[in-house]
Amino acid sequence: MAHDTRNFKAAEFSCRCGRFDCPHHAVDQRLMDALQQLRDLIGVPIHVNSGYRCPFWNKRVGGVRNSTHVRGIAADIRCGELTPAELARFAEEVPAFANGGIGVYKSWVHVDVRGKRARWRG
Ligand SMILES: [Zn+2]
Ligand SMILES: [Zn+2]
Repeated sequence: MAHDTRNFKAAEFSCRCGRFDCPHHAVDQRLMDALQQLRDLIGVPIHVNSGYRCPFWNKRVGGVRNSTHVRGIAADIRCGELTPAELARFAEEVPAFANGGIGVYKSWVHVDVRGKRARWRG
């Protein structure tokens, strides 16, 4: 299990399914460290809408089958002070996200540390 960073608790990334046998805390440390770098860069709180999803929950919320959320390397985030487009621009300055996935949606941004570049709009 990943350890907390200065501004993020591993529990914020746990699966929301609520099932007894879910490995709720399967978030990758690299994701948390990259998000901490983003947090340091913007200097204002980031809210985690969705982090790790077990396969059951991923299916329930309509995630793609091999979702990076299921691998614990993705988070959907938003920030009260910045628009998703602005937040995504800052994410480009964090190496693990620059060389990872950044998806811009209407009210949130998906970031992941997949190790190769992917960009899209939701
Ligand atoms: Zn679950
Ligand atoms: Zn996502």
